Amino acid sequence: MNKHNFLLCIFFMSLSSMVYTQQLHHRHKDLPCHHKVFNVDVHVVLDSMGVGVDITDIYNNFAVASEKFSPICLDFKICKIDSIYNYNFDSIPRSVEYEELSTKYASEKRINVFILSLPFVQHNGAPTAICGLAGSSIFLKKSCMDALTHELGHFFGLLHTFENPGTELVNGSNCETAGDGICDTPADPYQQFDPPSNWIDAKCRFRNLAKDANGDYYIPQTGNVMSYYGCPCQEFTRGQFLRMSETYIRTHKRLW
Ligand SMILES: [Zn+2]
Repeated sequence: MNKHNFLLCIFFMSLSSMVYTQQLHHRHKDLPCHHKVFNVDVHVVLDSMGVGVDITDIYNNFAVASEKFSPICLDFKICKIDSIYNYNFDSIPRSVEYEELSTKYASEKRINVFILSLPFVQHNGAPTAICGLAGSSIFLKKSCMDALTHELGHFFGLLHTFENPGTELVNGSNCETAGDGICDTPADPYQQFDPPSNWIDAKCRFRNLAKDANGDYYIPQTGNVMSYYGCPCQEFTRGQFLRMSETYIRTHKRLW
């Protein structure tokens, strides 16, 4: 390549990268950018055989979470991964034990993520296995660590898209007060703990024929991070990013 062609090539390369950067900027230009890196401590509860989890799995899921939160410039950095040797905490059937675990082992001013084999919540009076739970700490099931982004969504103030199922109208007229209280997540009638296959087909298309109070068919966003359909390529909506930004500013700024 002669010098002239080389310069021309550089010119077009930088032009195309400028266009690409501008597109990205355009896509998120009305979202706040916080330039915040959260330090995270991960606590792995070992089972009675002393087995924990694959560390690579933890790092991979944090990389996914950082990518999903990048439109509002929130980033997650693992500072420490330690082991909890008390295997009684590897299975938690009662909610009081989550508090116990957190009080004993959570680090201050950090996001604390506990990883255990069997987290449960009470559902219809019986302990029911769940993938994760988020309060002041995050609890994740060892076999569903890909629920991390979803639990971080809760940590930053999001509800499920199917919160109070059946209350939000398809036409969006009560979207601020019903369902998840966010207007760009469509009404979602999913009932927690129901098999997703009762609601979607193999290609993640919503196939349930339930209707809302107005007689309108639901068209939920099956690929939303805060849904339970488990579809690939999950996303947050703009409204969800704004809600998480508000929570960050109001509650989580003191974390470092
Ligand atoms: Zn959830």
